[in-house]
Amino acid sequence: MSQSVESKDAEVPQGKLLQELLKKFSDADDAKEIQESFRAICNETGEGKDGDKPYKVLSQKTDFHRAQNLRKAFDSKFNSKDYKKDGREACKNKQVLVVGAGPCGLRAAIELAFLGFRVVVVEKRNTFSRNSVLQVWTFLVDDLKSLGFRELYPKFGLSDRNHVSIRRLQIVLMKIALLLGVDVQLGVEFETVEEPGDKDKGWRARLKPANHPTSKFDFEVLIVANGQQNIQLTDLGFSWTKIERKLAIAIAANFQNKNKKEDFDQEDMGGVSIMNKMEIFTELKAKKDVDIENLVYLRDETHYFVMTGKKENLLKRGVLREDTGKKSLLNKDNIDREKLKQLAKDVASHCTKEKIDLKFSEWANGEADVAMFEFTSRSHANEAAIVKEAKNNKKLLMGLVGDSLKQPFWPEGVGIAHGIFSVYDTAWMVYEWFSGKVTEEEVIENRKTTYNCLRAMTKESLSTIREYGIDPKKRYAEYRAIQSPKVVDIPSTSKVE
Ligand code: FAD
Repeated sequence: MSQSVESKDAEVPQGKLLQELLKKFSDADDAKEIQESFRAICNETGEGKDGDKPYKVLSQKTDFHRAQNLRKAFDSKFNSKDYKKDGREACKNKQVLVVGAGPCGLRAAIELAFLGFRVVVVEKRNTFSRNSVLQVWTFLVDDLKSLGFRELYPKFGLSDRNHVSIRRLQIVLMKIALLLGVDVQLGVEFETVEEPGDKDKGWRARLKPANHPTSKFDFEVLIVANGQQNIQLTDLGFSWTKIERKLAIAIAANFQNKNKKEDFDQEDMGGVSIMNKMEIFTELKAKKDVDIENLVYLRDETHYFVMTGKKENLLKRGVLREDTGKKSLLNKDNIDREKLKQLAKDVASHCTKEKIDLKFSEWANGEADVAMFEFTSRSHANEAAIVKEAKNNKKLLMGLVGDSLKQPFWPEGVGIAHGIFSVYDTAWMVYEWFSGKVTEEEVIENRKTTYNCLRAMTKESLSTIREYGIDPKKRYAEYRAIQSPKVVDIPSTSKVE
């Protein structure tokens, strides 16, 4: 784990050196780089007193404004009403494993760290490479700002352009998580949970690589944020309901943003459809022979486009080689990638008024960042939380968050907002579980209620949210109604003593 500290010039005072290391950490642009620059900071600061969080130790050793501003943001979160609840003491140092360092897994890890839990995140990938851009709701912009997001990514939320790429969200959330003492392990794949073998042991995870030190981590809570609804989770006891819809094909593409004047001059299209901007679609068809239905264009770190294509047009243009039927239509060998690239370029050049020299961004394997996927079916978990009990009576509370709980319908742009709400709800459930204020059955019952409330939330109701935070009473009127003290009717025949 430990890595050698950068050679320290004896003349350089520690504060100055830490300032440089913190700058390197803030500028780090990929997961591995973040991990390494964070280790360099920790090696320099050493351990804090009484298990002080890394950000606190850091801010005691340098007066660099970034360290101080982050401390202010984190301290104010720790001291806010949401986290200063009765029963929080009981959460202290209880161990939680989070599967997946996507936006929801990292956000959950942060929330649980604020509640005092000891959190380890395992992420199977080593890099964050998803350039796709998410539109974020006002509450989420505020939420991220309150976490010191802008200290680590000053461009965020500067104008009315409230969007951020998935990789940037992961990069900044990972930095925040580390500063709060969360242990993020990259290149580690979760396989399943293992029941404790003997009396004193806790629940553990079977991981790949099998001998990874985290496989010795005992935990009482498992948060699954792997973005999928797969076989591993069925093994844990989760199940999903799938709703089939008519065939829908999405195409997402990212082009380089060189930050030149012509790049800046482009205007976002935050979600247009035939219903609200017919002329764009008519022009695209007439001038470029592209027939699409919905379109989003966001200028962020890349020029990001996502659209829904029509099967007939994709066949006509040769993007799809053959009409092989719903199941195999988007198989790799049925897609002509050169023609797919041309289609994406045609749409992008039209939307940017032919002003940009369009070059695709690249994936880690060097391929052009353009993909086609179908979102014909959508599914949601039948249960948001499950409790397992081992033979030695040790209980394991498991919860799903983000896309593994509920697959989003991307044109609505509610995916990440719903994902973050599921994080708050799950954090609340974990807090309740340990707080001793309600029974275990009530905890699971309450989680069912919050899940129902979330599933009933539409784009419209989401945009009316003014207050947010882990307490569901803040966000769901239905939950408030259920939880408010009940008026008990006394039958008129009752004998009043
Ligand atoms: P993910 O982002 O999928 O992260 C899961 C993580 O878990 C990954 O890093 C993965 O590597 C890791 N993992 C998986 N399995 C394992 C394992 N076994 N062990 C360890 N790690 C594992 N949402 C919006 O709100 N607004 C939008 O405008 C929007 N646009 C979108 C456009 C497109 C084209 C797409 C595809 C999605 C869009 N979404 C949008 C949805 C949004 O991207 C997702 O809701 C969000 O990324 C979900 O986050 P997550 O953390 O749940 O899952």
